Amino acid sequence: MWNSPKVGILGGGQLGRMLTESANRLNIEVHVLDAANAPAKQISAHDNHTIGHFNDQDAVQELAKNCDVVTAEIEHVNTYALEAVASQVKVEPSWESIRIIQNKYDQKKHLSKFNIPMADYRELVGNTPEELAKIGEQLGFPMMLKSKTLAYDGRGNYPVKSKEDIPAALEALKDRPLFAEKWAHFKMELAVMVVKTKDSVLSYPTVETVQEDSVCKLVYAPARNVSDAINKKAQELARNAVSAFEGKGAFGVEMFLLEDDSILLCEIASRVHNSGHYTIEGCGLSQFDAHMRAIIDLPIPPKSLELRQPSIMLNIIGGATPDSHLKAAEHALSIPNASIHLYSKGAARPGRKMGHITVTAATMYEAETIIQPLIDVVDEIRA
Ligand code: ATP
Ligand code: MG
Ligand code: MG
Repeated sequence: MWNSPKVGILGGGQLGRMLTESANRLNIEVHVLDAANAPAKQISAHDNHTIGHFNDQDAVQELAKNCDVVTAEIEHVNTYALEAVASQVKVEPSWESIRIIQNKYDQKKHLSKFNIPMADYRELVGNTPEELAKIGEQLGFPMMLKSKTLAYDGRGNYPVKSKEDIPAALEALKDRPLFAEKWAHFKMELAVMVVKTKDSVLSYPTVETVQEDSVCKLVYAPARNVSDAINKKAQELARNAVSAFEGKGAFGVEMFLLEDDSILLCEIASRVHNSGHYTIEGCGLSQFDAHMRAIIDLPIPPKSLELRQPSIMLNIIGGATPDSHLKAAEHALSIPNASIHLYSKGAARPGRKMGHITVTAATMYEAETIIQPLIDVVDEIRA
């Protein structure tokens, strides 16, 4: 095997763990910055990991000492720490890109310079009811109030259905920097994983995502009942949006498909993404393989990103008790072509992503039929 560069990962949760799985298969040594027994560290036995938090400047410095390339499994990292080590190691994607993307308002401002279609939005300056009421008159109701920073799994969003919701919305997101977004009346949510390499911008198929309470529940690959024209539009939008950012690696692009078949960008993640987990079984190279290859300049044959079989991914999310989610995994053991991924995060909390299951089949109809009993189990757990 070649003398591979050492790759540092900020964050060792499930995404870091799946990146490590890919790295392990290529004899790439990854050094993870996270708590001692983080999911990624559990599958990577050596002494070069760093114990600490991805927001701690000293810990990032410590990690960078032993690495050639540093990447992140999450966008909410300390980009000033990354900036500080960028003269020592490569940072992929660039700290500048992560800094813009981690602030949803800055992300939208940046993307609007590149003519990317998005829902109209307004910044809040004083977070007062009067200010939000005025914005409501401009954007109309419902509108989505959003935190600019530290948003994930819908924690940071508050749907403002009418003027009456304004006090509750501001209370729920108080002390956070905010903007409001015009409601996107979508008929479907689409997503595309884009991979930026040193000389190209590649994309995986257009998939359909289903969110429940703003948390990703299901991903259908390919998106169901979507015309070639819409598919092409989504692919182009996703690649154009990611091209607006510097650096290499996988980017998750979320979009809204509206009633009139126009498409708006929802948001970009500067990392591997939940909407791309299906690629592990569905494609020749997974998003995790592709990210690893992209950041260390190994070849990625574009054909390896094509879908081999229709695939459906179902998230296993924490339920009422610390192990209630395991019922879904147990059930999946007896389902044909169901690949089970448990993240080994320990005890579940309600709403916490604990694992996922991917079913592949010759047709989407067959995959839907196979996975339905599992969806029923997952619904029971969350009920
Ligand atoms: P993620 O876990 O994907 O990072 P997030 O917390 O950053 O989520 P968003 O992606 O902005 O949040 O929104 C989560 C979900 O909320 C979307 O997938 C969509 O279902 C809904 N949503 C967000 N913005 C709007 C909007 N403007 N109009 C309608 N629905 C929206
Ligand atoms: Mg987000
Ligand atoms: Mg999102």
